[in-house]
Amino acid sequence: MKERGVLVIVSGFSGAGKGTVMKALMGKYDNYALSISATTRAPRTGEENGREYFFKSVEEFEKMIAQDQLIEYANYVGNYYGTPKAYVESKLDEGKDVILEIELQGAMKVKEKMPDTVLIFITPPTAEELKNRLVGRGTEDEATINARLRRASEEAGYMEKYDYLLINDDLDTCVRELHELIQSEHWKVSRNIDRINFIREDVKIFSEGE
Ligand code: ADP
Ligand code: 5GP
Repeated sequence: MKERGVLVIVSGFSGAGKGTVMKALMGKYDNYALSISATTRAPRTGEENGREYFFKSVEEFEKMIAQDQLIEYANYVGNYYGTPKAYVESKLDEGKDVILEIELQGAMKVKEKMPDTVLIFITPPTAEELKNRLVGRGTEDEATINARLRRASEEAGYMEKYDYLLINDDLDTCVRELHELIQSEHWKVSRNIDRINFIREDVKIFSEGE
């Protein structure tokens, strides 16, 4: 059987560059699967149903909750967001490293259910750069940007809950560091018990034969 993939959560302030980093990571390496979330927020210009998100009505989303189709869900600045279960499980079984780009509350719920999940927090180098990126993206009005900045200030209090911090200053550097971080996770002792038992037994037999 193929080794199960690593489940990774990437969170970070809105405008930190998560989506940009994910796109670059997917374009550069082929061992990753990015989970597509369901949401009740309206699509932004250029977003497609089934590509960035599965866009749902509140009724449809609540039906998914009732039917236990989501690993987790949360309310973020007035909209539901949730992670469909089936895709994540099947990709992990295929040996893909699965990335969930989700916010803090969802991250905590997944870590509780699946403790070997790797939690990564992406931040821009400064708050000024964060605001510049949010404004520069040009997808939200001023009130929404301010709500997201207030939310960022709340979220900043929880960064220690994550396993790793990643600074998205230069994009290419950030993407390479993210890749290295996830790949080194495969070599954690707790993920290699079968290999350890094999080599232990092998050394034992070999040493007894000497
Ligand atoms: P998030 O998904 O975290 O909300 P986005 O990926 O939409 O953030 O990025 C927000 C804006 O910042 C976008 O306009 C994007 O092009 C820009 N951006 C992302 N990463 C960088 C970076 N390393 N340097 C400069 N601008 C960036
Ligand atoms: P946006 O509206 O900018 O696409 O996303 C807003 C926030 O929702 C981001 O912090 C994003 O990571 C988070 N998010 C996206 N999908 C999910 C999900 O399935 N579950 C949770 N809990 N958060 C999500």
